[in-house]
Amino acid sequence: MGSIGAKDVPVLITADGRRIDGRKADELRPLAITAGPLKQADGSAFVEWGANKVMAAVYGPREVHPRHLQQNNKAIVQCRYNMAAFSVDERKRPGLDRRSQEISKVIAEAFESVIFVEEYPRTSIDVYIEVLQANAGTRCAGLVAASVALADAGIPMVDLVPAVAVGKVADSIVLDLKKEEDNYGSADLPMALVPQSGRLVLLQMEGHMTREELHRALDLGVGGCRKIYEVMREALRTRYGADAPSPGVAA
Ligand code: UDP
Repeated sequence: MGSIGAKDVPVLITADGRRIDGRKADELRPLAITAGPLKQADGSAFVEWGANKVMAAVYGPREVHPRHLQQNNKAIVQCRYNMAAFSVDERKRPGLDRRSQEISKVIAEAFESVIFVEEYPRTSIDVYIEVLQANAGTRCAGLVAASVALADAGIPMVDLVPAVAVGKVADSIVLDLKKEEDNYGSADLPMALVPQSGRLVLLQMEGHMTREELHRALDLGVGGCRKIYEVMREALRTRYGADAPSPGVAA
């Protein structure tokens, strides 16, 4: 493999402040969410976000496997994030690598803090996320899909959890990085928000930012999450009409 010289780096921000796909700094990629596309799962959702395509399926509350993970006072939340071999340009080796394990863990932890787990002791709530096509931001797309799938399954939660990655690209702080921006930018900061309380339930960062840039990035991400939240709610309204599951109200 040849090394990447400066001349190979694409122009990420043009002179008039536009990004590689023409977006402004605070613009999201197009986002479409379908609630309940899978018949076999207790809850499901399909997310198309830019070039990302992600399916989530939820099962439970159900018996815990393996049994020794069972907790007497609450449900456990288990997540498996998986990237299909055909989801990226260079075929991904099938199976759970360290990256998938890390993403599965942080997503499970995010949901553990919003689901009313005490209501279902000795059970498991299982979240499966399958990335069919990837173009950066798949952990956020997975979280969004899984969150709608959990609501579709009727699992009581504090709120839906929108998520988005913000980052630093050619000295600009931008919302919702796409692949080239993730590859050639200088920071990537995925985050997930509980809109009702403003609490962040996932926050990771790769790269470098000043403290001031970090504050701006967080503000931009919170604003993006609030827009994504509306699309998530709309997906549930489309499926359920006036009876759409209302997070925050225990079923
Ligand atoms: N990617 C890839 N092969 C891999 C892992 C990631 O091509 O084995 C690509 C994919 O497009 C992914 C992007 O790199 O969306 C950024 O990956 P990252 O680990 O930052 O996670 P993400 O942004 O998807 O949450």
